[in-house]
Amino acid sequence: MQPPLDRLLRASLRSFKPYKPGTSVDEVRRRFGIANPVKLSQNENPLGSSPKAIEALRALESLSAYIEDDHLRLRARLARPYEGLCAENVVIGHGSNEIVQLLFSAFVDPGDEVVMARPTFSLFRKDADVAGGVSLEVPLREGVHDLEAMRRAVTARTKLVFVCDPNNPTGTRVERQSFFAFARALPADVLLVIDQAYREFMDGAGTDGVDLLAIRPSTVVLRTASKIYGLASLRFGYGYGSPDVIAALNRVRLPFNVSEPAAAAVLAALDDDDFFTRSIANNEFGKAQLYAGFARLGVHAYPTAANFISVAIPIAADAAYLALLERGVIVRSGDGLGMPGRLRVSVGTEEENAAFLDAFEALLGVWRAEPLEVGR
Ligand code: PMP
Repeated sequence: MQPPLDRLLRASLRSFKPYKPGTSVDEVRRRFGIANPVKLSQNENPLGSSPKAIEALRALESLSAYIEDDHLRLRARLARPYEGLCAENVVIGHGSNEIVQLLFSAFVDPGDEVVMARPTFSLFRKDADVAGGVSLEVPLREGVHDLEAMRRAVTARTKLVFVCDPNNPTGTRVERQSFFAFARALPADVLLVIDQAYREFMDGAGTDGVDLLAIRPSTVVLRTASKIYGLASLRFGYGYGSPDVIAALNRVRLPFNVSEPAAAAVLAALDDDDFFTRSIANNEFGKAQLYAGFARLGVHAYPTAANFISVAIPIAADAAYLALLERGVIVRSGDGLGMPGRLRVSVGTEEENAAFLDAFEALLGVWRAEPLEVGR
């Protein structure tokens, strides 16, 4: 028997679609009997985890105590690369996803407006829906945030403006000069949230969100250990902001939201220059490999500033995704990501990228011969 939830559920949840993570390796094993599928669907680090982080985890002897909840050492370490920032400028969370949730808990009342791109990282919209906020989704222009249109979408009811840079799912980044002009033009009482989960993969021409925080105090910059440090399963993210904003987030944060293993592993990972450098080098190599393949095959791919690429396909994205799945390659369908006619492919190791390109090339021949449905 089902409990009658109609009256119980909060109104904002009644028409709500839950977040759908990518297909798991286990699911492909079960459904298709493929022992070792190639997983290029969750923008993880294909080199695994920072070895220094794993070492730090192994060295832990007890988990019986509640850790000091202010995590001052870790927060000071995260502030260290930035002159003028200290522990009070840093909030830490159970993944950067938790910090997005904290932003809604601290700042968004039902009916308040939140401006974001479309498509962008789906959790912004989800969390806005849960909070009863009103999302204004501004279409990308040629795959890039349309900052001018986003600025025009801001009203007296706007609380948060999200810029995902590099943007998930397109991989694109905004141009530095227009980012600064945008940040300056936003009203001071609107919080600019810059999600930079993929920041470390950007080249020097990209924007460090913390430079915008320096000129605009109502700014929060989100980062994560899930990508470059290969610690997605550990759940650790962090954010930079002015002390007042950080204090507001800490007021709504659960106590002990970051565990001792997470703190210890991240402290070690932050000093793992070798793993960092190897991860960047692998990503650069893989991007070149994938772009060369896409050029040879004549398919359009957005320029990426991240560790994944959005590529166009000549059939419906769900069908293309399924065909690749049957061949043991897991990517993300653009259909579920607001990007019809495209796939999102994470950059893997050389072998993984090659396996993807082989399957993709074989299927492309079939798709072009008899397109099921023409995508864009
Ligand atoms: N932000 C963006 C834009 C992402 O793509 C992801 C990864 N899915 C995250 C945040 C997740 O970060 P975390 O694992 O730290 O919660």
